[in-house]
Amino acid sequence: MGTIESDTVQIDLDLVERLTKEETAALDQKHARSLSYREEAKAHLPGGVSSSWQTWPPHPIYVDRGEGSHVWDIDGNEYVDFHNGYGVMVMGHAHPKIVEAVRDRVAKGTHFAQPTEDALPVAEQLTERTGLPYWRFGNSGTEATLDVVRIMRASTGRDLIAKIEGTYHGHHDALMVSVFPPEDKAGPREHPNSVPQTAGLIPGTTDSVVNVPFNDLELARRLFDERGSEIAGMIVEPVMTNCGVVLPDEGYLQGLKELCHTHGAMFAYDEVKTGFTVAWGGAIEAFGVQPDLVAFAKALGAGLPCGAIGGTEEAMSGVISGDIEQVGTFNGNPLTMAVAKVNLTEVLTRPAYARLDELNVTLHRCEEVVAKHRLPASMKTLGAKLPPGAAALIMLGRADAPDRVLERVRPFGGEVIQTSLDSEEEERLRAALGETVESA
Ligand code: PMP
Repeated sequence: MGTIESDTVQIDLDLVERLTKEETAALDQKHARSLSYREEAKAHLPGGVSSSWQTWPPHPIYVDRGEGSHVWDIDGNEYVDFHNGYGVMVMGHAHPKIVEAVRDRVAKGTHFAQPTEDALPVAEQLTERTGLPYWRFGNSGTEATLDVVRIMRASTGRDLIAKIEGTYHGHHDALMVSVFPPEDKAGPREHPNSVPQTAGLIPGTTDSVVNVPFNDLELARRLFDERGSEIAGMIVEPVMTNCGVVLPDEGYLQGLKELCHTHGAMFAYDEVKTGFTVAWGGAIEAFGVQPDLVAFAKALGAGLPCGAIGGTEEAMSGVISGDIEQVGTFNGNPLTMAVAKVNLTEVLTRPAYARLDELNVTLHRCEEVVAKHRLPASMKTLGAKLPPGAAALIMLGRADAPDRVLERVRPFGGEVIQTSLDSEEEERLRAALGETVESA
């Protein structure tokens, strides 16, 4: 993660704060209806929203509709969407093939709690993309990583889960630990504390999770030397995303996998965000290291609630035998499966990723901007993924500790560029980045 050069400019953080205030004030004017609606909604929805993270500063923007790469809010403002619902909508909003798939399936019934014929082709697609033979479906990334943790514990008879400090894997207890630990609670980098991310975790939860910093194989090795026989498995986001985009160093993922296997532990990827965005076959294809288990969600369902876990025959043997129960009323939901099938076979196909790679050449100019202005920042991009603009800014204050992800480096989102971004928008983006480079 040490991508921030030491020869960087000193940033005037007061100026950053002032500019942020000015921009926020300008936004408030454009969002009069969103701001008043929020007050109305607060009467019945805590914070006026349905998920605590929808209150992201400066305030929630209530959306009316989306089409292609554009969204419109309830004030009538139009945006080119680079957030894309946390990266879910990489195929674009209201994609005609997805709309058609929903229409077709809705008319035939949307829920039976019995399997339909669309789950198998989705599983076959996932196998083709990842090489992992067995799949089960759920309804969110949280459910997927919950299942992964359960399988790792049940298969090994061990309790301890290793994860990366500063990664988010969903809101179930087992992994809601050291997601964005405050600096005064995080402990030393070599032995980070397990810090609860929320009130209300089951007592003892933090004792069964241990964290190491990303991209530091030596510290992972030390952890396994110390506690390897207790570790059921390790879950990693192969590219750290919820703090910008942090790419794995060469050999890091393979090193972790070997470490896990040497100590009888399982190795799992959380590809909830990297899946279907960084490459056709996700991070498994991009970096060529196959985990025992993988969790997918988000872009799989093209905007419908979805989740999937995949694994090797050995890793999934407990689910296959029935010893491990992987269950849910809406698992393999007919509407989700019908849409996922069309999404994978007709929309997010190889050519879509060729287009994303083409767009990525433009995104790459972010790095030029950082280099040209000698900013203490990192702006990596991969496939459709880009860091939020805020990532660069928020990292400004932390050039002293670039190899740890703590509370103050907390920019969510940024997310993805879409296949549906048109050439005019691409040109505008290229021009904007170009101007920023030239203005140095
Ligand atoms: N894993 C990662 C890496 C995520 O970013 C998220 C959500 N942003 C999740 C898991 C949880 O997914 P969900 O919100 O669908 O439960």
